Amino acid sequence: MYLEGDESNFYIGSTKNSLHDRVISRRGYIKQQIKAGKSLDKVSTHFKDNLYEICIDLICECECDSKQEQFQIETEYIKQLHPPLNHYCPYASETEIQERNKIRQKVYRDKNKEKLKQYRERNLEQLQKYDNERNKDRNSVRNMRRRERINCEYCDKEISRGNISTHRNSCKNNPKNTLK
Ligand SMILES: [Zn+2]
Repeated sequence: MYLEGDESNFYIGSTKNSLHDRVISRRGYIKQQIKAGKSLDKVSTHFKDNLYEICIDLICECECDSKQEQFQIETEYIKQLHPPLNHYCPYASETEIQERNKIRQKVYRDKNKEKLKQYRERNLEQLQKYDNERNKDRNSVRNMRRRERINCEYCDKEISRGNISTHRNSCKNNPKNTLK
């Protein structure tokens, strides 16, 4: 929920009713609070002078088995999107990290799904690129080491490190050579 033309100041909430009803009930709540001379919460204070410019967008449509589950999903979005007008998370618990994957499976339609997917894929690509470069570096170090020339302990000939063990084996059985 946000005021028209001011999308960066938004509030995240959840409802089992329609979005339209959600706006109407928020508007009604604000009017009621003002009429009764009661204090307004953060989001209501933000909306109170522009009650008919409240906009609402659907972020996610989920199937929830309970109010608690609904709050958990809402909290997920609050944590991800940092809405400036929310001042607390409706649900917070230590187990939520473990619950996270379970919740995500329940989210079957999600406005950000495609974006998140692209983000992951982009990262994956970068990650693979990084991996490839690391392997390339590792291989070039290995190849350099293999090309490095060392002296055979038996015949004192200069042999590349990559071939030394084969050479050494044939060399040590040659009676002409003694270990130096
Ligand atoms: Zn040798």
